[in-house]
Amino acid sequence: MDFDLSEEQKMIQETIRKFAKEVIAPVASENDKKGEFPRDIFKKLAELGFAGTPIPEEYGGAGFDYISHAIVAEEIGRVDSSMRGTYSVQVSLVELPIFKFANEEQKKKYLPKLASGEWMGCFGLTEPDAGSDPASMKSTAVENGDHYVLNGQKTWITNAGIADLAIVYAKTDKKAEARGITAFLVERGMEGFSTKDLHDKLGLRASNTGEIFLENCRVPKENVLGEVNKGFKVAMGTLDFGRYTVAAGCVGSAQGCIDICKEYAIQRIQFGKPIASFQLVQQMIADMVVECEAGRLLVYRVGDMKNKGVPNTRETSIAKYYCSEMVNRVAYKAIQIHGGYGFSGEYDVERFYRDARINTLYEGTSQIQQLIIGAYELGIKAFT
Ligand SMILES: Cc1cc2nc3c(=O)[nH]c(=O)nc-3n(C[C@H](O)[C@H](O)[C@H](O)COP(=O)(O)OP(=O)(O)OC[C@H]3O[C@@H](n4cnc5c(N)ncnc54)[C@H](O)[C@@H]3O)c2cc1C
Repeated sequence: MDFDLSEEQKMIQETIRKFAKEVIAPVASENDKKGEFPRDIFKKLAELGFAGTPIPEEYGGAGFDYISHAIVAEEIGRVDSSMRGTYSVQVSLVELPIFKFANEEQKKKYLPKLASGEWMGCFGLTEPDAGSDPASMKSTAVENGDHYVLNGQKTWITNAGIADLAIVYAKTDKKAEARGITAFLVERGMEGFSTKDLHDKLGLRASNTGEIFLENCRVPKENVLGEVNKGFKVAMGTLDFGRYTVAAGCVGSAQGCIDICKEYAIQRIQFGKPIASFQLVQQMIADMVVECEAGRLLVYRVGDMKNKGVPNTRETSIAKYYCSEMVNRVAYKAIQIHGGYGFSGEYDVERFYRDARINTLYEGTSQIQQLIIGAYELGIKAFT
């Protein structure tokens, strides 16, 4: 077992850490308050190769390994979860499933555009009445000559309003539940495709979230991703990538809370001393550090498994479940250490606290992760 990062991974960490500190962090709070996604910053991130971190160079990516992919999510999450969410969706929920499930023609057509940041992508699985149970989706796709005609609605879709390409799931066989779902590559501009932004979110305010409307949306047959009626496999395979970067982002946000609290606890004086000198404050900092480090090890273990091509659904769920709950505990303590000032939007911990909340909800709630882990342990599935 080797716990050291390679020279390349260290170099990537240093580059993204500097970029996050100098370019993303200074405007994170302002963008959160304005509720605006900074597209220009994502383009700069792409110039460094970080819009296609694990995608092979032949498809326009950087060709880095999966631990490097986590490091990028971690370092972005350390300063701004909105940008981290956008990064996760672009790379883990759009590029990686295309790399894994698309045919050669589709890979060559879409990956270079996405990995260069020229195009943004989104992943459209959730519907108003189908969240934890995506197999109950109502969107349909009906064959019509050389096209499929899609009808339905997707909601809570990260990047929906800024995406040039959406991976959309619809039922090609209504009676077959999970085995009747197909994944489609839908370009903005295809007839019958439209989006609407969602506002007034608790957190991730600088990340775009929206709805997708499919109204007799005509998608060429060549845009089926993977096989017809095998889309559920694509969706679940995708979530193994997505949950991984959510977990990594949580580790980063927890580290961000620690960074901010260390500085604050040393300069904040009460009872004539820095609050950092009080044992109960040190206890909170120590708990935050231990939990963050435990989460990081869980994430890097998954990265190692992904690098080796070993199945990792169980370990990914463990990392996602632990890290998403962990960052909420850490952000709670970060507010506590800031006292009343932590309750103010003028301090970054307030944004970290709000942004932490989403992680136990999306890409499978904590309960869904528990059921996945439970099924591996017990050999009994609570749901199909
Ligand atoms: C900001 C944001 C961004 C998102 N981005 C995307 C995206 O890019 N693409 C996308 O497709 N979706 C996205 N989602 C949707 C997200 O994945 C869903 O919200 C999530 O899967 C939960 O579904 P739901 O909200 O319908 O909750 P529900 O499924 O209705 O769950 C409600 C509660 O019931 C519990 N529950 C449900 N079933 C069970 C069960 N069998 N056993 C025990 N408890 C259960 C849940 O854990 C939860 O506590 C996003 C959501 C948000 C808020």
